[in-house]
Amino acid sequence: MRTRLAIVACLIAGASAYALHAARSRPEPVEAGLWFDDVAFTSNRLGEPLAASEIATIEAVARAEVREAFRGLRIALSGRHDAPYTLRVAQDVLDLRFKRAVGLAGQSRGISGLGGSGSVSFNFLANGAMAWAPDGASRAELVTAIGRGIGRTAVHEFTHQILPMAPIHDSRDDESYENASAARRAQYYGPMHWDFARPLLEQRLGSSMLSAR
Ligand SMILES: [Zn+2]
Repeated sequence: MRTRLAIVACLIAGASAYALHAARSRPEPVEAGLWFDDVAFTSNRLGEPLAASEIATIEAVARAEVREAFRGLRIALSGRHDAPYTLRVAQDVLDLRFKRAVGLAGQSRGISGLGGSGSVSFNFLANGAMAWAPDGASRAELVTAIGRGIGRTAVHEFTHQILPMAPIHDSRDDESYENASAARRAQYYGPMHWDFARPLLEQRLGSSMLSAR
């Protein structure tokens, strides 16, 4: 009876030491908050204005794009406005360097290692998804492409925030997240991949693959 008690106590001690070790070697992921304002969109290409259910699909597609791009990195996507890194999907994002209204796909500011904030333009990316649509694209394909465009822009903007000093616009890869332009087909249709920023993100954030070892 006494022996048995001792073994139980030992197992518990072992378990808590293991839990402590696991917590030390796997710190909490940093949080990135992404949320949508009330947005609306219509165009000749689309026909009827976007329905609420289609905007919900766009948000789901955008969030899936962000999760996929950052998979394996120690960063967690939420909708929290007080997360260290935040992006708001607004109806429009205007370039304040110009007196006239010049629309941007997105903009961000970040402080190395601390956090950042920015915004992504629903209008810019919805119009882009229409402009780059292949002939005969269905309404559902157009809706998905808007979500992809917003998600891929969000990946680009979060990367600016997390790596504010990295020259990510140097990428000449037309299918990369780093590429400076949202006026390209790959922003909305077909595959997209990392060029050179992924190892830099791993250095800054840590990789959940490494921490799981
Ligand atoms: Zn950029």
